[in-house]
Amino acid sequence: MKIVMLGAPGAGKGTQAKMIAAKYQVPHVSSGDIFRANIKNGTELGKKAKEYMDQGLLVPDELTVDLVIDRLSWEDCKNGYILDGFPRTIPQAKTLDEALEKIGEHLDYAIDVDVPDENIVTRMSGRRACVGCGATYHIVYNPSKKGENCEVCGDQLILRDDDKPETVQKRLSVYHEQTQPLIDYYAGQGILKSVDGTQDMNDVFAAIAAILEA
Ligand code: AMP
Repeated sequence: MKIVMLGAPGAGKGTQAKMIAAKYQVPHVSSGDIFRANIKNGTELGKKAKEYMDQGLLVPDELTVDLVIDRLSWEDCKNGYILDGFPRTIPQAKTLDEALEKIGEHLDYAIDVDVPDENIVTRMSGRRACVGCGATYHIVYNPSKKGENCEVCGDQLILRDDDKPETVQKRLSVYHEQTQPLIDYYAGQGILKSVDGTQDMNDVFAAIAAILEA
């Protein structure tokens, strides 16, 4: 099962990706999480990536593509994976297709979690992320049972810099310009599935599970 999650920032694709990964026992590979881990560990890559991320811009391909594609060659990915946040541009999607083709593989589904722009900004201002493990919550839709602390590791929950309203607007315009074309790209390959991301997260998940089990 090789799945790419599509959707605007804040559409809930990360939450769904984690739920799919848990149910179907495949790793959740998030390019954003890989960058955030590098930032947390103070690596050179993390320092470079942060400059772009804090402005709501995409990290350049030369810092992104090899890093993510290499992650897919790890042993835990041999039965599949859920890709979240990658690819984000047509060139990234083409490079991924070529890398898969070389090893005789292909993506099974691209799942678009569809949420209109109007809903995104309000949603993202309520988003909270754990400084320790990166788990995400929403103060209204998916609150932590431990209040201001993470249910998983107990660390503090914060509003990520890139979830602040001014950065969200930039991320949305970057999404429309660079990432949304992937919807047509994967539709052209016949692997696109769309779900209504405005529903309750459990209903979104039920819709995705119905697609995967059809
Ligand atoms: P995410 O957690 O997926 O929303 O990613 C957070 C930020 O990391 C994005 O706004 C980008 O700056 C950067 N990023 C994540 N994935 C990619 C990618 N595939 N290509 C370029 N930049 C990325």
